[in-house]
Amino acid sequence: MTCYILPAHLLIELAEAGDVDLRDTIATLLASATLRAQRETLTEAVQFLDLNAAQLRGPAAEAKAVHDVQGGDERGLPGVLRRKEGDGAAADPTVNDAFDNADRTHDFYRDVLGRHSVDGNGLQLVSSVHFGRDFDNAFWDGTQMVYGDGSGKVFQPGALARDLTVVAHEITHGVVQYTAGLRYRKQSGALNESMADVFGSLVKQHALGQSADQADWLVGAGILGTQLQGVALRSLKDPGRAHQLDRQPAHMRSYVDLPDDGNPRNDHGGVHINSGIPNKAFHLAATRLGGNAWDRAGKVWYDALATKLRVNSTFTDAAAATVASAQALFGGEVASTVRSAWTDVGVS
Ligand SMILES: [Zn+2]
Repeated sequence: MTCYILPAHLLIELAEAGDVDLRDTIATLLASATLRAQRETLTEAVQFLDLNAAQLRGPAAEAKAVHDVQGGDERGLPGVLRRKEGDGAAADPTVNDAFDNADRTHDFYRDVLGRHSVDGNGLQLVSSVHFGRDFDNAFWDGTQMVYGDGSGKVFQPGALARDLTVVAHEITHGVVQYTAGLRYRKQSGALNESMADVFGSLVKQHALGQSADQADWLVGAGILGTQLQGVALRSLKDPGRAHQLDRQPAHMRSYVDLPDDGNPRNDHGGVHINSGIPNKAFHLAATRLGGNAWDRAGKVWYDALATKLRVNSTFTDAAAATVASAQALFGGEVASTVRSAWTDVGVS
């Protein structure tokens, strides 16, 4: 599944506002539809046939590689290899940003959660930069991370690969693909998006040594271009308040029930919209538990993702799974804090 950091409905609203010419970006999205369908088939094969990375790609020594697709589209991926494991810094700062942020994300998963790469088996982390022309998005395409340069209107130039939360968000879509495989539609899709935001924020908090109280809980802080007014792309602390078009709910009473009908306005049934609800549940659990969010809340969410959630899990399933993981890992007090976090966003 291709998981974009910026939902298509936001692109459309920006284009309709008239200030931003996003024809190139939207054309790129549409042109990629066929290839995307092929990758979805691959993703499902991984999920249901339990193929492992070695079978798909051959053995890879838990390494990273950054390619340059030189303005090309999905047919050009991954592009020219610019930096691989063991190389010194490249001449291109965007190549180094993608490399270093993949490295930080990789080390978080290994050191904090004991997971080796997205597949748990050392799969090489492949990234491509300079996708499209002024392309205002980043995505996980089922096999690798891809970063556009940003037009300056939606995202600042170079900001997508430079932002650790964006990179960790995309890599986490890979982790979700190889664990619960949360289907990218409706509530399971919103859980998929939420997991990517939760671990996107946690990787940054860990890199900065910030406690739950100190963290900004933002995804894409300070990377917005001139046409998006706000502090970030999303906020786990204050869903719906990151920028002027942010309509994420923070509670089930405001759940946005959209169809999964292929209309990009409807965001696969609100996957980037209703993710605000589980995001807020995680923020509440982590701040109430205190200390570093990755020490307890992060481990609970990861355990639920890796061992309990399934392709069609709902918010209610996620609440039950995280409460059970909390009980197993840390006991009743942590479990009851996790339960109250979900209750307070209207999920029980
Ligand atoms: Zn995403």
